[in-house]
Amino acid sequence: MSKISVDAARLPLLLNTLRLPAIGRLWQDIAARADKEGWPAVRLLSALAELEVAERARRRIERHLAEARLPPGKTLDSFDFNAVPMLSKAHVLALASGDTWLGKGTNLLLFGPPGSGKSHIASALGRALVENGYRVQFTRTTDIVQRLQAERQSLQLAAAIAKLDRFDLLILDDISYVSKDQAETSVLFELIAARYERRSLMITANQPFGEWGKVFPDPAMTVAAIDRLVHHATIFEMNVESYRRRTAIARKPKSDHQPAEAQA
Ligand code: ADP
Ligand code: MG
Repeated sequence: MSKISVDAARLPLLLNTLRLPAIGRLWQDIAARADKEGWPAVRLLSALAELEVAERARRRIERHLAEARLPPGKTLDSFDFNAVPMLSKAHVLALASGDTWLGKGTNLLLFGPPGSGKSHIASALGRALVENGYRVQFTRTTDIVQRLQAERQSLQLAAAIAKLDRFDLLILDDISYVSKDQAETSVLFELIAARYERRSLMITANQPFGEWGKVFPDPAMTVAAIDRLVHHATIFEMNVESYRRRTAIARKPKSDHQPAEAQA
């Protein structure tokens, strides 16, 4: 009996040394239950191991959600698919599992006017993919271009791009907002070329390709970038009126507008 109490006293230290915080937190309750219910030793051991593994998975996803920098509150559940009839909910949900495309480095391109829900869908998909065990980072395209330009200046561009390989998916929001002077360095092209057929990109844009001339330094590079992006890609065109505008209209008192407009 006294041997058992000595072992129990050392347990917190041992579990801490072994970095088993979940077992450290819960072993007393579980052990008491095991004693009470007369569990075989192997059941106790496996219950504790399962707890620790589940906790690790939960913490990993928490870390991956933090590093994903997703805009808050944009989930697939809160997306009204009826508002974008040309977007197949089943297709989006299939992509949310990640299995069919991220392993192959396939891209997803989302086109639509401002307010059509591109950023919402992009970040909702990103969140679902993180929850399914993938690593994702969401960034405004102008921000990542700026970051990579700084890396280029300190001759670290290749290393910085290689470091981004840890993400199964990079979400580049609003590629068409890259400014002319940002386009003068070819960092975005280098990123696209480096990830080609290996690591996925998700890109949103107000315009499908038409305006991309100003995103890259010259027309040949624009063509080469688009060529790589679309070679293995799913493209969603979300040609609907701004959701913000539509909900604003729907909120207006009835007398302010035609009934037909409220239904639009
Ligand atoms: P975009 O990136 O295409 O400009 P956003 O995704 O930012 O558009 O959408 C604008 C706002 O409208 C956001 O607050 C977004 O959550 C909301 N929104 C857009 N489309 C939908 C939708 N189909 N269902 C629910 N909310 C939507
Ligand atoms: Mg957007």
